[in-house]
Amino acid sequence: MNFFVKLFLVLLLYFSIKDYLSEHQINGLDIIEKVQDIDLNLNSRPSDREEQRMESENKNEESFLFSNESIVIRALGDVDESDLEDSKEIIENFFGFSCSIGTAAVIEDQMYISGSQSIIDASICLDLLQSDEKEIFIVDKKLWAQGDYLRGYAFIKGNTLIVRGEKSFLRETLIHEMGHHLGLSHCSDPSCIMAINNDEYDSGDFCNACKNQLQNLREEKEYP
Ligand SMILES: [Zn+2]
Ligand SMILES: [Zn+2]
Repeated sequence: MNFFVKLFLVLLLYFSIKDYLSEHQINGLDIIEKVQDIDLNLNSRPSDREEQRMESENKNEESFLFSNESIVIRALGDVDESDLEDSKEIIENFFGFSCSIGTAAVIEDQMYISGSQSIIDASICLDLLQSDEKEIFIVDKKLWAQGDYLRGYAFIKGNTLIVRGEKSFLRETLIHEMGHHLGLSHCSDPSCIMAINNDEYDSGDFCNACKNQLQNLREEKEYP
């Protein structure tokens, strides 16, 4: 039952018994015991609520609440609608950003690695897609840059991010590239989401050093 419904019922019972007692001047032991039970219930409620409030405060602290940030998620080429929805949810839940899903962008011919229709050049994409908007492009093609296949690509404090819409690593890649967007470089702690080639050890979160750096960037308002 909803907490407020319970509280309302308990209060209603409490006051009806109180009224009944004062009207009828009854001091029966069983009724007094009932009233005491109700008092105990009422006393236990505020501490429950306090705990819930503290839990949610801790959650906010861990999720680096950038409350005034907003970012647009866009498809680059044909992308499953669910990949866009998932990306939106991941960014909103982890960072507290407000996210929206924007219009799809077209994969232009020069974005493809020459002769291929399935591999696109991440750095050429960023050059062509760059704007003043904060945008994450989700793509279903293989990404390539600097002689290697990549899961995502973003410049440090860059506004434009590109991420492969591959469910098995979508969350890690989005948070990692968002880390770059917010000002982080790669990290040497293998458990940190900002480390590279660390699938085995990845905790799915920033290490304490990266969290502190993010906190400082936020306080100094140095984040983009
Ligand atoms: Zn990186
Ligand atoms: Zn780190």
